[in-house]
Amino acid sequence: MLKTKAAVVTGSTSGIGLGIARALAREGANVMLNGLGDAAEIEKTRAGIEAEFGVKALFSPANLMEPAAVKGLIGEAETAFGAVDILVNNAGIQFVSPIDEFPDDKWEAIIRLNLLASFYAIKAALPGMKRKGWGRIINTASAHSLVASPFKSAYVAAKHGIAGLTKTVALEVAQQKITCNAISPGYVWTPLVEAQIPDTMKARNMTAEQVKNDVMLGGQPTKEFVTIDQVASLAVYLCSDAAASITGANLSMDGGWTAA
Ligand code: NAD
Repeated sequence: MLKTKAAVVTGSTSGIGLGIARALAREGANVMLNGLGDAAEIEKTRAGIEAEFGVKALFSPANLMEPAAVKGLIGEAETAFGAVDILVNNAGIQFVSPIDEFPDDKWEAIIRLNLLASFYAIKAALPGMKRKGWGRIINTASAHSLVASPFKSAYVAAKHGIAGLTKTVALEVAQQKITCNAISPGYVWTPLVEAQIPDTMKARNMTAEQVKNDVMLGGQPTKEFVTIDQVASLAVYLCSDAAASITGANLSMDGGWTAA
């Protein structure tokens, strides 16, 4: 379905981003991976995608905290593939703390990566999409783009920001066959979620099991974690021609969390 397309997926060395990159490659898209991590592991992942799906897979270690690196990532992909048809803004970090104790540098880092990097990537990728008259922008938002939870002020602010950015971009390019949507998962079992457990235990004075069952799945009526494959399938669908009229949407995949 995506054999003639090229995709950049930020934060795709792990978790949801890797799942989306693999799913796009399965459909035939060339992919530019990006993220942090062990170089040998990442190379294994990159080569594995090429071997399994018969596409071109590249990796950029661009640190998206830096606007110049974000622009560089898009430029590198355009040079290598001739275009960036699909942009998935997915890289994200989390930090859990009461707001009056929230370290300034952590707050700013979350805004920089989870929100500003998406702006810079969209700004860099849109001219190429406009030239081709086709594009798909998918922002990994969160249930926290719609509702809040205590101790996550930076993350909730960034994700609400992404929801607004998604709608605005969609309106600006609505007549150019470019769609811009957000996917808002509830709790997906990934390294990011696992890493929140110790801080949440501290902040709420709970055991790890209580954090999983009462805090994370407490608000998720299905009582099940969303899977990476489910999120990736929705991303693939949003890239299809069938999804051409879905734009400016913030699509919840949260086991009913935000219905409550
Ligand atoms: P993850 O920690 O598994 O993956 C995060 C990715 O971002 C990794 O590839 C990491 O290397 C990359 N990254 C981190 N800092 C970076 C930087 N400075 N520059 C470039 N890349 C960087 O996390 P995940 O759970 O897969 O999260 C992916 C996205 O999904 C995030 O935006 C997150 O907010 C969102 N999300 C996750 C959940 C969940 O429950 N896991 C729920 C809703 C939304």
